[in-house]
Amino acid sequence: MTKFELPALKYSFDALEPYIDKQTMEIHYGKHHQTYIDKLNAALEGKDEWQNRSLEELLSNLESLPEEIQTAVRNNGGGHLNHTLFWEIIAPEKEAAAPSGKLADAINEAFGNISTFEQQFTDAATTRFGSGWAWLVVNQKGQLEVTSTPNQDNPIMDGKTAILCLDVWEHAYYLKYQNRRPEYIESFFNIINWDVVAAKYEQAIK
Ligand code: MN
Repeated sequence: MTKFELPALKYSFDALEPYIDKQTMEIHYGKHHQTYIDKLNAALEGKDEWQNRSLEELLSNLESLPEEIQTAVRNNGGGHLNHTLFWEIIAPEKEAAAPSGKLADAINEAFGNISTFEQQFTDAATTRFGSGWAWLVVNQKGQLEVTSTPNQDNPIMDGKTAILCLDVWEHAYYLKYQNRRPEYIESFFNIINWDVVAAKYEQAIK
């Protein structure tokens, strides 16, 4: 069977300082993300028909999975997919740039300008009660949209393609920011890898 594995990071644990601290990265990537993967693999163990499907396929068709593994795949498969995107779309500050090309045009078309987008994204991340994620997605009409989900749900469960995300579970920021989620959200805008987001946008509208 194919087992899901932790994806390699393209930067060191301390490379996102001061916005995301080294210890948070070590625990978040090495412990939290690894645990989602372990539990996902455990849930799929012995489920021959489902083991070689992609995560996207599994999460788009949750109701067709055996009932006893639906919740485990939703939570842990979602956890694996969400964190994999998150590590990809952040980068050390010196590598992060502004949106450009088709993505910049689409942001202006959908939100008016980049700062209105940032405000909407900030609101989505701030008002997500409890644990969850904020997203920039491409919807079924091919338009950009800001949204948020609870727990480890991924927009693919609503037929939307995520191109940017922010983890607002306390485990993502508590060691450095404690209860100050808004400060963590503000910091995030310094480390978005817009080149990766732009590539994901172009892929999503193909
Ligand atoms: Mn997390």
